[in-house]
Amino acid sequence: MLKSNSLEKNEYQCAYCNKIFTKGLSDKEAEEEAQKLWGNIPLEERIIICDDCFNLVNPEARKIISEEYKSIKNNT
Ligand SMILES: [Zn+2]
Repeated sequence: MLKSNSLEKNEYQCAYCNKIFTKGLSDKEAEEEAQKLWGNIPLEERIIICDDCFNLVNPEARKIISEEYKSIKNNT
């Protein structure tokens, strides 16, 4: 889960639904987007979610997802 080894360069895996998507943004745009979403948290603590999930979750939920992701990582 959340392994990105098999992804193409222009693909990403949604941390919420685990589906694989093609990036619609350049790395620079994605970086700016991530800054808006997650603020200045370290790159390895950021998660990527797809547009569908993004539209489903509100900012508060995004924070919780981020926390869950961190705890999942810490437990492995
Ligand atoms: Zn998703």
